[in-house]
Amino acid sequence: MAKKDGLEVKVYRAEEDPFSLRRFMLLSELRSALAANEFVLHYQPKANMSDGVIDSVEALIRWNNPREGWIMPDEFIGLAEQTGMIGELTHWVLKEAVTQAKAWADDGAPTRVAVNLSARNLLDDGLPDYIMGLVRRAGIAPEWIDLEVTESAIMSHPELSRDMLLRLSAMGFSIAIDDFGTGYSSLAYLKALPADALKIDMSFVRNMAHNADDATIVRSTIDLAHNLGLKTIAEGVEDRAVWDLLLAYGCDKVQGYFIAKPMGSGEMQAFIRKK
Ligand code: C2E
Ligand code: CA
Ligand code: CA
Ligand code: CA
Repeated sequence: MAKKDGLEVKVYRAEEDPFSLRRFMLLSELRSALAANEFVLHYQPKANMSDGVIDSVEALIRWNNPREGWIMPDEFIGLAEQTGMIGELTHWVLKEAVTQAKAWADDGAPTRVAVNLSARNLLDDGLPDYIMGLVRRAGIAPEWIDLEVTESAIMSHPELSRDMLLRLSAMGFSIAIDDFGTGYSSLAYLKALPADALKIDMSFVRNMAHNADDATIVRSTIDLAHNLGLKTIAEGVEDRAVWDLLLAYGCDKVQGYFIAKPMGSGEMQAFIRKK
């Protein structure tokens, strides 16, 4: 390592980069992980602000890698997208989520389950029929499955994404625009989307009790959403001060560590029952 004007200058050598080796390992292991049953869904509740009721959860995938242990989605969803495996992976997530929604309904605790879709999934022409097939076979209504799509995923192919979301929405699935506020969509475009809810990105929510600009952004987003007939979900709610502000601003639902962290399906079931 050389020092130049107080800055450290590193010469890059691929063979010394543990990250690229790790990336390579994960890439090769990802291919067999589905067949080896190494993925698990965790669930994080979303609470209604009006009555505190929890009637919906978000499914979040985790990978139990035999060599490394638990790996979080930010580390492998991108790899799955690059290798084209995301189609298969999303099919697995949807199947698991529908099975879980059916199990909770049978258990007397009907709960909507939200699934995250990737940009690539929005280009998969067969997706609507696939989800509909799962829901029909399970004997549950499409209303029990919510689909979350990030604003930036939609904006990567605005026209095709809109067509896909229109088809899914017409079938009865609810659409939430995820990470809202980070993806440069225009208001005109937003109006043309068949969305039911906006999920306000946690980068605005987390510190809003201490940052007046963040609080203004969140409040204006809630007003904007409501004026367009959309529900609002704030993510990354970590303390009571943020909850209180969101309540004052009329936010519809909240999700975050203040309510509960993501948990396994058994724990989630006990959590729903307790509430
Ligand atoms: P996301 O959809 O924005 O999900 C929210 C993330 O924030 C989750 O991270 C969740 O555990 C975390 N989180 C929830 N509450 C709090 C909080 O109060 N504070 C903080 N700091 N974090 C909180 P996770 O599970 O690591 O997922 C990361 C991202 O990976 C997700 O972001 C989503 O974009 C993606 N992802 C997760 N599961 C799937 C999946 O099944 N399919 C696809 N395509 N993407 C997924
Ligand atoms: Ca999400
Ligand atoms: Ca999000
Ligand atoms: Ca996110």
